[in-house]
Amino acid sequence: MAWTERQRQMLQEMGIRLWAPVAPTEVAATPLPAANLKSSPAAPTPAVAPVPAPAAPAVSAAAASAASAGVAADERARSIALMPWPALREAVAACSACGLCQGRRQTVFGVGHVQAHWLIVGEAPGEQEDLKGEPFVGAAGHLLDRMLGALQLTRAEAPPEQQVYIANTLKCRPPRNRNPEPDELSCCEPFLMRQIELIRPRIILAMGRFAVQSLLRSSEPIGKLRGRVHRYQGVPLVVTYHPAYLLRNLADKSRAWEDLCLAAQIADAAC
Ligand code: URA
Repeated sequence: MAWTERQRQMLQEMGIRLWAPVAPTEVAATPLPAANLKSSPAAPTPAVAPVPAPAAPAVSAAAASAASAGVAADERARSIALMPWPALREAVAACSACGLCQGRRQTVFGVGHVQAHWLIVGEAPGEQEDLKGEPFVGAAGHLLDRMLGALQLTRAEAPPEQQVYIANTLKCRPPRNRNPEPDELSCCEPFLMRQIELIRPRIILAMGRFAVQSLLRSSEPIGKLRGRVHRYQGVPLVVTYHPAYLLRNLADKSRAWEDLCLAAQIADAAC
């Protein structure tokens, strides 16, 4: 290939040395002794293009993008952790951190007294809740209201020792009421954490597997975790069955009642 002067200069700038082949006639005209071939200073140096740096392995690109997603998630969590109620409510309503935002009619923030002694944590909105924008308004919610009523607790307006706060681990309805995915739970967790921080309840009643897994970071079954007092960020927490489960498993209602009585003892002892 014949290089133009300009190309030569560019290649030189890039550190690429050119090898100008000696015309075959010249080689024939000036034969060199074989012994001199290797060491002869006149021997043409082949063009050595710099070996390109090996492409960064794909895995490190993936690791870098995961790390930057992690940093963004940490920043988001830090900013949520500082929000007062109105900002928190707005952030939930506008949230698009996971795919659930695509199928929801509206977010379900939570209801109740902002200084409630009792915080009830469920799993995720279902169809009725997605329509109404309020947690536990379907059949499971009616059972929850009756359970609370037996302890003179209510979601209706009342002083903070009687009016509970009800929230879910997820603020958006999963499609066809499927189980929450781990990434959905972790995207939504900062909202619930902030609600707990703002309310500082005397007792948290975690209802069902996903509330428990999310708050206690435990994959133990409810049956193993109920009957004792746990802590979430210093707040006493009692585990019990989800009301939707109780609708199908009547035999466990008496155990749920024991759990409510344990929670009531803790809430009353803190008075
Ligand atoms: N089940 C829940 O866990 N939460 C609701 O809001 C409704 C049903």
